[in-house]
Amino acid sequence: MSSPEVLLGKSLPELTEWITQQGQPAYRGKQLYQWLYEKGATSLADITVFPQKWRQNQENTIIGRSSIYHYSTAPDRTRKYLLKLADGLIIEAVGIPTHKRLTVCVSSQVGCIMGCDFCATGKGGFTRNLKTHEIIDQILTVQNDFGERVSNVVFMGMGEPLLNLPEVIPAIKSINEDIGIGQRSITISTVGLPQKILELAHHQLQITFAVSLHASNQHIREKLIPSANHYPLSQLLAECREYVKITGRRVTFEYILLAGVNDLPQHAKELVQHLRGFQTHVNLIPYNPISEVDYQRPSQERVNDFLNRLKQENIAVSVRYSRGLEADAACGQLRATVDR
Ligand code: SAH
Ligand code: SF4
Repeated sequence: MSSPEVLLGKSLPELTEWITQQGQPAYRGKQLYQWLYEKGATSLADITVFPQKWRQNQENTIIGRSSIYHYSTAPDRTRKYLLKLADGLIIEAVGIPTHKRLTVCVSSQVGCIMGCDFCATGKGGFTRNLKTHEIIDQILTVQNDFGERVSNVVFMGMGEPLLNLPEVIPAIKSINEDIGIGQRSITISTVGLPQKILELAHHQLQITFAVSLHASNQHIREKLIPSANHYPLSQLLAECREYVKITGRRVTFEYILLAGVNDLPQHAKELVQHLRGFQTHVNLIPYNPISEVDYQRPSQERVNDFLNRLKQENIAVSVRYSRGLEADAACGQLRATVDR
């Protein structure tokens, strides 16, 4: 049998076209659209307003939803899901409820090829890119499980989104237009790859764009992020400036704080020099421990000292304490396993 027709990710006009090709009246396109994106139908059998006989005949059509293989919930209600894809592979998604918000942290790939030294996903290697519908599914799954609307999406789960732009860009468009989440409430986080930031910029999205900087100089960056070898910090920063010019949106820099590695006063000073005059916001992320390496999270005092050194130089900065640590669902802890 040929590979199945996947409905998730299709727009209203596309669904309408598809359903009329199936010999159904055009208004069924709107119904299908609502059942997919609002009611969260997981299979055609769920869509009870459609003729039963017709549903039974759609053997080679799938909605494209995953199944929840496992989940764990942290005391702060952050919930990590292991989702099983059609081919049996497992990915992670995280639901993070905060006051009046529900943020979903989505994966863009199964694993990651970048191999960053501090990241559990990076330690596990790369398997494959996710399809558009496999990205959209993660949001609908969390929305359905929490029983409330998702307000924000962050591409901070497994994988490097800029290495999967052909699937990630349509996913963003669908999350925006079909699920109804504003582009500004969607964040892409990237470790940065030559030319890829500019490629993203040319899509002219109004999303929030975050770059994982993590180091104040090239030497430290190369130690933490192997690919930085081929991507000098100066080029990365130049391409980020270009991004701001092209999109009119600022860039957020993420900076993991690793005790004794990149959290010293001289590093704060170097960072300030790089960011002067830049339209930016810095997110400091105290390191979340993973078992494979022995980096340490800095003390609260060191974190505050680093924060204040940036503030004194009028750099917009905040500290992001990752949620979900107890469920192994915090940034960098996603590895798609049930037990450790
Ligand atoms: N590949 C992308 C997006 C996924 S990683 C990227 O690297 O940006 C999402 C965020 O989690 C990144 O900022 C990443 O640096 C951070 N992260 C990875 N491992 C971490 C750890 N052990 N502790 C805290 N943050 C971590
Ligand atoms: Fe990949 Fe991001 Fe982890 Fe680096 S930090 S290995 S780019 S997921």
